[in-house]
Amino acid sequence: MKEIILLKNGELALKGLNRHTFENQLVKNMKFRLHDLGKIRYTNSQSTIIVEPIDERVDLDEAFRRILKIFGIAGISRCAAVEKDMNEILPAACDYLRDELIMAKTFKVEAKRSDKKFPFNSPQICMEVGGAILEKYPHLTVDVHNPELIVNVEIRDKFAYIHGNQVKGAGGMPVGTAGQAAILISGGIDSPVAAWMMARRGLKLVGIHFASPPYTSVRAEMKVHSLLKQVSKYSGEIPLYVVPFTHIQEEIKDKCPEDLFTLVMRRFMMRCSEAIAKKNGCGALITGESVGQVASQTMQAMNCTEAVVESLPIFRPLVGMDKDEVIERARKIGTFETSIQPYEDCCTVFTPKHPRTKPQIWQLEEAEKALDINALVEEALAETKFLTITGE
Ligand code: ATP
Ligand code: MG
Repeated sequence: MKEIILLKNGELALKGLNRHTFENQLVKNMKFRLHDLGKIRYTNSQSTIIVEPIDERVDLDEAFRRILKIFGIAGISRCAAVEKDMNEILPAACDYLRDELIMAKTFKVEAKRSDKKFPFNSPQICMEVGGAILEKYPHLTVDVHNPELIVNVEIRDKFAYIHGNQVKGAGGMPVGTAGQAAILISGGIDSPVAAWMMARRGLKLVGIHFASPPYTSVRAEMKVHSLLKQVSKYSGEIPLYVVPFTHIQEEIKDKCPEDLFTLVMRRFMMRCSEAIAKKNGCGALITGESVGQVASQTMQAMNCTEAVVESLPIFRPLVGMDKDEVIERARKIGTFETSIQPYEDCCTVFTPKHPRTKPQIWQLEEAEKALDINALVEEALAETKFLTITGE
């Protein structure tokens, strides 16, 4: 029996005339993520994509696992594909879903017939398939309202497809359909989650990390690589820029008032990030900030930070989330265990004892007069290192 994977596009279906662009991007992303598994055919029709292995060696379990992490998919079903003939459909429904049928107490059959030439209509298909199942599994009862198992029979162009309960997909929009944005990524819990959330909205990611050797170690940077590697299982390949931040931080420490260290530093991060983002065709910056989480994330502090960004929006997808919600998400996407490894971040290298929580922009501008802003930014950009992170 041939097995395939059937995908429902979810939110894509709402996109009207743009739908094809979205579907094409989704197929392109899937091809990229599954290409090493062998030859696969992708067929696109009626808000559904059929993923059909062509050569024998395709590992469908692995394909299924990877598809669970691809954005733009609402539901995933692994199906048996059989000839459009009741003599094939009935035994296949009973055998293919054997384990689920044995475990369940209640079930119902749902039928969809997009090939109107098929001689049975949907209610008739349900009757026939339901009857065959009840005969073979007499412990089952039909429950049309709240069944444990839904046996789906879809009569489409080439084959009849049989599958059990649909598994929820990663949701969101296909990566790339919303353009590209730069994520400021630290080794913490928040920024990888922010990256994941914006990739789910269809943004392709470019990573920017600030490192302050020797205050921050090689291992701290490796931690960022492994976090992005995990995120890239969802978002696809992530180009990463590692910006040397030591000189900027030392200058700030020597020349600015201590209670503004963190904010002056964050403004430098923003200036460097905007330059890198623009060079890479990014339409926004993304951070893992959340209101009130630390002194540098009060409203006033955020206002001072973003004041230096000239012409890009800053997306802060965690802005209204509690830490425990962020942690829950981090666990689900598989970044939490890496994030809690205790390596230093440049933000924690020179932390003021009493940071100002209600700063004003003029105070920062005043403090920064002691620094040659352009020269420092240019020096950091000139020494920025580039690499590409990929999860598979
Ligand atoms: P996270 O858990 O993401 O580190 P946080 O709660 O520790 O966040 P901060 O250290 O104040 O908060 O950083 C706020 C945001 O600034 C981060 O979410 C991230 O987007 C960015 N950021 C912080 N440190 C760095 C860094 N070393 N390189 C790049 N971006 C950074
Ligand atoms: Mg941090």
